[in-house]
Amino acid sequence: MILTLGAWTPDLTKGLGWHPSVFVKRGYHMHYAPTAPAEPAMALLDADAGYVLAPMRQGLRLTTGAEFAPRDAPASPIALDRAETAARRLYPALGARLDPAPWLGQRPCTADMLPIVGPFPRGSGLWLNFGHCHQGLTLGPTTGRLLAQLMGGEAPFTDPTPYAPARFSR
Ligand SMILES: Cc1cc2nc3c(=O)[nH]c(=O)nc-3n(C[C@H](O)[C@H](O)[C@H](O)COP(=O)(O)OP(=O)(O)OC[C@H]3O[C@@H](n4cnc5c(N)ncnc54)[C@H](O)[C@@H]3O)c2cc1C
Repeated sequence: MILTLGAWTPDLTKGLGWHPSVFVKRGYHMHYAPTAPAEPAMALLDADAGYVLAPMRQGLRLTTGAEFAPRDAPASPIALDRAETAARRLYPALGARLDPAPWLGQRPCTADMLPIVGPFPRGSGLWLNFGHCHQGLTLGPTTGRLLAQLMGGEAPFTDPTPYAPARFSR
């Protein structure tokens, strides 16, 4: 069995006596109606203000940077309001909000910002693959390949030591 529950994985492993050092960085998305005749043809990154504005089928998607908050804390309006204010300065044609509420996601981050991939440190036949921090979409196929090789007893394509769950020994 493989546990791949992202930021929720420690909820299960704590019950089995293993407490990995995991925290979350949260982020918000909101779609806006474009009001200009031509919306941006590609995503815009405003690195100074820390947001991305991207044309999507649902509208112009504004994504915020990272928010440090407890995983299950209520959503805060601050990050999105700040990003929206900055985006309206850069792109005044940004229209009204389209979603009833912002999308809120939790990035599962580890103390060393590396994913947790490999056998459960307390045995029992469990395997782990989570904690991809900011790069879950990018790294998922690669860590999936590594885990499959470890589970199958094959030579791994890369050294699995930096990602070993046992580095968090509590
Ligand atoms: C704001 C934001 C920006 C991001 N930007 C990028 C980026 O630029 N590049 C990139 O590569 N990746 C990006 N990501 C992806 C991010 O790295 C991944 O979301 C992260 O690594 C988590 O992926 P995951 O599949 O492990 O967990 P998740 O996608 O969080 O999936 C875990 C799932 O487990 C479910 N679950 C929890 N408990 C239980 C249970 N008891 N039983 C059954 N199911 C359960 C949850 O509902 C959830 O669906 C971003 C994510 C966020 C939130």
